[in-house]
Amino acid sequence: MHILVGDTLLMKKPHPCGCNTFSVGRVGMDFRIRCTKCGREVMVPRGKVEKNIKRVLRNGIELNRQALMGNGENQEHA
Ligand SMILES: [Zn+2]
Repeated sequence: MHILVGDTLLMKKPHPCGCNTFSVGRVGMDFRIRCTKCGREVMVPRGKVEKNIKRVLRNGIELNRQALMGNGENQEHA
């Protein structure tokens, strides 16, 4: 799954504050994501983040699942 720094993740499981959107601060073995409501940062293992993602927004545009799964080709058409 191609997640980049600066992406916004909509998670299945919300933060304790009730917000389920997080911005990505760092990617790697662990992701650092920041709750967009309360600003709290959490470190989460990559596998756990990926399982928990519902949607990904990049520059305010939702990525389609094929782009996320990285099938090789970039699909530019909306
Ligand atoms: Zn929060």
